[in-house]
Amino acid sequence: MADNRAELRVDAPVFDLRRFVPRWLAGRLGLPGAVSFKEGRAVVADRARYVDSVRRATDADLKDGARRIRSGGSAQHVMSSKLLALVEEATRRSLGHAPFDEQMLATTALWAGHAVEMDTGEGKTLVGAMAAACYALCGRRVHVLSVNDYLARRDAVWMAPLFEFLGLKVAWVGQVSSTAERRAAYRANVVYAPVSEVGYDVLRDRQATDISERVAPAFDVAIVDEADAVMIDEAMAPLVLAGTGADDSEDFAAATELVGMLHPAQHFTVDEDGATVSLTDEGIDLIEARLGGINVFDLEHSGTLTRVNLALHARALVHRDVDYLVTDGRVRLINTARGRVAEHQRWPDGLHAAIEAKERLSITPPGVILDTVTVQDLLLRYRTLSGMSGTILPVADELLEFYQLGSGRIERHRPSIRTDEPVRVHVSREEKTDAIVAEILHRHATGQPVLVGTQSVAESEELAHRLPASVPVRVLNARNDAEEAAVIARAGEHGAVTISTQMSGRGTDIRLGGSDEHDRRLVVAAGGLAVIATALYPSRRLDQQLRGRAGRQGDPGVTVTHASFDDELVQQNMTTRSLRRIERGAELPQEVRRQIVAEAQRIAETVRLGQHRGTWEYNRAITAQREKVLTVRDQVLNGASGIDRIRPLGSDHLDMLIKATDRESVELAVAAVTLHHLDERWQQHLALLTEVRDGIYLRVLAGQNPVDEFHRIALREFHGFFDAVDRAVADDIRRLPAERIHDPLGHLGLRRPSATWTYMIRDNPLGINGARATQTVRRFVRRVLGGEASRLPGSQEA
Ligand code: ADP
Repeated sequence: MADNRAELRVDAPVFDLRRFVPRWLAGRLGLPGAVSFKEGRAVVADRARYVDSVRRATDADLKDGARRIRSGGSAQHVMSSKLLALVEEATRRSLGHAPFDEQMLATTALWAGHAVEMDTGEGKTLVGAMAAACYALCGRRVHVLSVNDYLARRDAVWMAPLFEFLGLKVAWVGQVSSTAERRAAYRANVVYAPVSEVGYDVLRDRQATDISERVAPAFDVAIVDEADAVMIDEAMAPLVLAGTGADDSEDFAAATELVGMLHPAQHFTVDEDGATVSLTDEGIDLIEARLGGINVFDLEHSGTLTRVNLALHARALVHRDVDYLVTDGRVRLINTARGRVAEHQRWPDGLHAAIEAKERLSITPPGVILDTVTVQDLLLRYRTLSGMSGTILPVADELLEFYQLGSGRIERHRPSIRTDEPVRVHVSREEKTDAIVAEILHRHATGQPVLVGTQSVAESEELAHRLPASVPVRVLNARNDAEEAAVIARAGEHGAVTISTQMSGRGTDIRLGGSDEHDRRLVVAAGGLAVIATALYPSRRLDQQLRGRAGRQGDPGVTVTHASFDDELVQQNMTTRSLRRIERGAELPQEVRRQIVAEAQRIAETVRLGQHRGTWEYNRAITAQREKVLTVRDQVLNGASGIDRIRPLGSDHLDMLIKATDRESVELAVAAVTLHHLDERWQQHLALLTEVRDGIYLRVLAGQNPVDEFHRIALREFHGFFDAVDRAVADDIRRLPAERIHDPLGHLGLRRPSATWTYMIRDNPLGINGARATQTVRRFVRRVLGGEASRLPGSQEA
């Protein structure tokens, strides 16, 4: 098994040209991540010409200047050094900060539509606001997209004086915003919003049956904060709009009870990378017996089999406090990449219900998916994209591949004096934990503040328990964003020990010594903030993000990373060679241990990139078809004649209706019925495609390329979509009497979902769908053919 994996995955990129090419040349060669911002540098230098005059100008003069630029309009899209000087001076006066030259350069980089890497603490909030102001003064509409509500609101309020000074309207949108508030907010020149909220607004707008219902965000300029997290890590997470659906909670409770009777190993087995669980023959027999001797592989029992599989998955592979928390009677997912509660996220399909059943909570009805959009599709709608983050360069290739976005790095205002100690690799988890505890105690004894970044909530708690009561430790678990930010902000205080999952409270500034100058001197003397990582993350970028917490703005600081061979990263991404080396245990030198861990990390990075590409391939067909449906939908909303469209399918009844009422009333009735069928058919098509995609791995067994096969089916199923809609509309209109012309949906019994809600799912969590489908089919074939299945390609049973 391990051999297979090693062969499959070892094609990680080992050679990176950029490491050998000087920066200036990389820029010329157009290598990803090597944008030199030459244009911006010239503008930044040239603004010096205007510094004296803007300094001398009164507030009224500056405001007047801003007004003239806005009404001028001629300078649109052209970076101007005069405008930049104006924005700089406005920032100084309204926010009380003189921006650094690095910040001015970063502003022009965003203004030119690039992705910018700037270290933590370098003042990206200000940069984003200045760039937004520059765009807005040129007449553009700007969205500054953040990762959560808390940051959107905080930044909008914090930066508001700048926009107000320049006569620009700024607004924010969050989960709590009402429809009217959203509509008003999107009219502002600059809108701060979490990317997911904009996505939900798009989805809801697409369901509108009247143009005036829309909140209509403008897709002009996006400045994406934490761009790597949003544009890469979450790129393929679908945002979902769902409506009320059937309630099958009793069935889930029954399946959970059934699965509760199974014994590990005897009735089910978990494969070694912990991603798949499958029933043994004995397990299947037990379940079939309990269900009164049915054959669960019969088509009529497919629902039962699915629920049993989900319940088993929920029991064996998804763990409380690692993958999810239970609070206030609800299952709340922990986004493992960020180590925080992922609000509004659910596991897809029935897995969520299965976990609720396992926890004996009331089961939320799964609902019908009305529409979805991925974060990547959403971002690609913007005319101009730009972004910033502390870790952009590691994803420069992907930003170029998926968004045609060039990127580059802006150096720090003050050089870093942080030390990153080499990773220490332990042979076992126990040895690692002991070392971490010793490290915390030893640093804490000197008064140095310590921030420990763990991989899970459970790990945070375990570590906190290991520390003596005399150490005042703050454990930060996935809670709410504002609370997290407050705790993280204090992590730099003298003697503080903070344990938190990696990205909690991100976007929060950690000041040494908190707000106290005296304390700051003590902390600096103790070496600044110490960041301790308890493992390597599945990407170097995430490691870098955690380390970036220390040594901000030229502060002293140190980072220490402890890893072990028992870490999930190593266990799941090991090559055969590493496996052999690890067996040598304690005698293995640190240098070799580091190689093993680093290799596992590179394999993990490659696998993730492959997943991104793969999911994107699947989504392309769906996106293209959705665009076609939306185009027709918009034509209907904008008053295109439906009568003309359906007349060829029969005109007698239509003519009667027009004669008995009037043409406009008939058009309105046809439009209402058409929207209904367009939406309903799209939902069905989407459900079908999702099902096909989940089952597509079965075709791998038949030797077909799953993506090609998926596209072929998607195309075939979409064929005739609009004809079918027209036919359904014509049929319905024939059943409509003239007296009911103003209530066609009511008369025909066509109802829209009464309630809708939104959530975000992480596509293909744990890779369940494909793997589960393969397992199921293998079992099935084996039962039917009596052991023949072992000859199928990819079969694990030898
Ligand atoms: P980042 O998002 O890049 O980590 P923030 O935007 O949170 O950084 O800013 C970090 C801190 O630096 C904030 O307290 C902010 O007020 C401060 N800051 C930003 N720009 C300046 C500046 N030009 N002069 C002084 N302080 C600044």
